[in-house]
Amino acid sequence: MIVEGFKLIFAPEEEAGAQVIRGAIEDSVPVIRQLWPFRPPRRAKVVVWTDWMDGYRQGLPRFQLLLLPLFRKRIVGYGDRLWKLVGGITLRSQPPAVLVKPPRVLADADIRIGEKLFVHLDDINDRVRSITCHELAHAYATVRPLPAWLNEGIAMLTVDRLFGFDTVKPQTMELLGAVTAPVRSYRALPRLTNSELVKFYARGYWLTRYLHEQHPEELRRILSQRFAIGVTDRRLAKIVGVQKSELWEKFDGIVWDHYRG
Ligand SMILES: [Zn+2]
Repeated sequence: MIVEGFKLIFAPEEEAGAQVIRGAIEDSVPVIRQLWPFRPPRRAKVVVWTDWMDGYRQGLPRFQLLLLPLFRKRIVGYGDRLWKLVGGITLRSQPPAVLVKPPRVLADADIRIGEKLFVHLDDINDRVRSITCHELAHAYATVRPLPAWLNEGIAMLTVDRLFGFDTVKPQTMELLGAVTAPVRSYRALPRLTNSELVKFYARGYWLTRYLHEQHPEELRRILSQRFAIGVTDRRLAKIVGVQKSELWEKFDGIVWDHYRG
């Protein structure tokens, strides 16, 4: 089944969950296209995710599937912790694939990180909708190499727009205040502790939100650049109005002052 350009893949017994995800794709794609200057990923998939490795098998293109045994150990090595923590994941393969847990699987998730970051959504279907939207924004963003914090900020802001209210808790702003650059690479994430992960996401959200609300045209411009050069500290420093060398020393404070000052 093709939904908004994504091939939706699910086992027959997951029909009910697949319909929730299908509706979320239909609602999210127009929001993503309106907010961000990314062209749609071609031949991308969305997999209704019920098993850690099966999702990878269904999502990866044939060529990368051949390499899966090489990575299998690393993926499985993340173990149960990551499987329980995430409601969805985007495989940055070519074409990309979004894996999303259906409601019945998401119900077993470890929400300790999520509940520190996000406002509580009573309806589990809304949580699936929010995860689907978040991951679809990542799938669109795979056409650009973005630092991880900005990529997460973009995904979280997209969910805010889909729901029409702030889905990130306002008190996460208290986690601003670092004076070093946030994690740029996803490879570093599985090694972070839960509280470091919460800080990473919170910071990504608030810094990106500030850029999006205060400097929308400049943000669009750097997101439109085709190459890795698009989002550099030099360009960010220029947007924020500081010297490149002091960007990470000052950026959190500027955002804090803007929202709390
Ligand atoms: Zn994400």
